[in-house]
Amino acid sequence: MLIERIWPGNDYRNFHYLLACPETGEALAVDPLDWQRCLQVARSKGWTITQILNTHEHLDHTGGNSGLIEATRARLLAHAGAATRIGGVDRGLSKGDVIRVGRTVELECLDTPGHTLSHICLLSHTEQPALFSGDTLFNAGAGNCHSGKVELLYESFSAQLARLPDTTRLFPGHEYLTRNLEFTLDREPDNSAAQALLAEAKSRNGGEAPVTTLGQEKQVNTFFRLSSPMVIAQLRAAFPQIGEQPDARTVFLKLRELRNSW
Ligand SMILES: [Zn+2]
Ligand SMILES: [Zn+2]
Repeated sequence: MLIERIWPGNDYRNFHYLLACPETGEALAVDPLDWQRCLQVARSKGWTITQILNTHEHLDHTGGNSGLIEATRARLLAHAGAATRIGGVDRGLSKGDVIRVGRTVELECLDTPGHTLSHICLLSHTEQPALFSGDTLFNAGAGNCHSGKVELLYESFSAQLARLPDTTRLFPGHEYLTRNLEFTLDREPDNSAAQALLAEAKSRNGGEAPVTTLGQEKQVNTFFRLSSPMVIAQLRAAFPQIGEQPDARTVFLKLRELRNSW
């Protein structure tokens, strides 16, 4: 599978992705808001965009659908539960569905509610797995739950994302790495992995931002570090009522609450 990460340089700090079959040149566009840019990149590589996937229904992920469909006649794929809100969906997706691109690419649909109630993450069936995580999991962070449910986001993290192989490369819907690492270090000032990555993120941001793996995320992403004594001690300062040994779910919920106003 060929992966092209596209940085349109917009205010939302979106990442778009083209996932292509090296044998046929057929490509899937993930959340192509800046569809002209995606089309331009596809053409420069000799690829044909035949499918579009929306991870969820927010306009900063779906706003390029109609332009790209008009230009390419690509089929639109999205979570079955978000299809009526998105409109024009050709294939409604559920947990475990497989998306094929060309002859060689297989992507598994994970049903990961939380940021919204109907959110798809894509997991590639490749030797080194790749996760396209939309607004569920960011590099060093977690999506907000303003239009979803934080309890569901915790379930998506703990029951699904945390169990993927450490070698899995992470490709989220936005680039928020610097800000997210600053939150990690606010919670865990002595986290040396986060300190080192922050220095790198400051010199390579936006389209140059590093691609992390889930193994790295477990070191630098507060939302995977729910049993860290420092994270818990710092959290108790803000929320004394959580007690000395809060469970992972409570820690996650309170971290997300703090992050909302941080
Ligand atoms: Zn969103
Ligand atoms: Zn978004």
